[in-house]
Amino acid sequence: MPLTSLPIRIVLVATSHPGNIGAVARAMKNMGLQHLHLVRPLQFPHAEATARAAGADDILATAVVHDDLLGAVADCGLVVGTSARQRHIPFASIEPRECARLVVDKASVGNAVALVFGAERTGLTNFELSQCGTLVTIPTNEQYSSLNIAMAVQIIAYEVSLAARDKTAVIEALEPLATQDELEQFYVHLQSMLAGTGFRDHTSEGHLMSRVRRLFNRAQVDRNEIRILRGIVSAAEGKQRVNTVGDTP
Ligand code: SAH
Repeated sequence: MPLTSLPIRIVLVATSHPGNIGAVARAMKNMGLQHLHLVRPLQFPHAEATARAAGADDILATAVVHDDLLGAVADCGLVVGTSARQRHIPFASIEPRECARLVVDKASVGNAVALVFGAERTGLTNFELSQCGTLVTIPTNEQYSSLNIAMAVQIIAYEVSLAARDKTAVIEALEPLATQDELEQFYVHLQSMLAGTGFRDHTSEGHLMSRVRRLFNRAQVDRNEIRILRGIVSAAEGKQRVNTVGDTP
């Protein structure tokens, strides 16, 4: 299955060196990926980006710039974050080969997929990681684990290209996955319903919503299921309203 036919995008968050953006474009084009999204790049467009793209400037020319990560992934059914290190909340991470199979499986049935890379010095924030359904870590030397961002893109894109090459005809007719935007709306709805019940966050450091996000990310919720979940939350809200009205003297 040609990789160019699949709805897979690379998202770079807050990249500080324009040269790295160019090197990422080159790595993408080498492997057959074409959709580049940039979230708050420090400098773009930039001569250094064009120079390092070495002929992949068509990727830079069609790159889409966003103000925040959600803007770049709102319509995606699968959002994969990348990180060199484990965070305080232990997001379960997978390796590039397994990730590539998942990416190609989901993209080949029409789900838009985002592969998200963090800023050179700081990587993705915990909040940005919580907007990613899956986390991938390239296994490296534990004492020296952080790759140059374009090299990280190269490795993941290479694995995705192999997985696409090995993928044959698609026969599944599956319900599309809920998009990141639909998930975010559900979390807001759930949080407001919980606030109305007086439900308390008993996790040690106020991590309730991060835990809830992890749970639903693991479930890979589809469109039908997110409608059911929204319906459940709305029903609970309706019940709350009835109770509140009933309480008034
Ligand atoms: N200290 C930061 C390093 C950022 S390197 C961190 O731990 O996240 C810049 C980006 O390159 C990272 O955000 C990630 O997108 C990618 N990257 C670097 N090394 C990686 C690795 N071993 N596995 C997966 N992604 C990696």
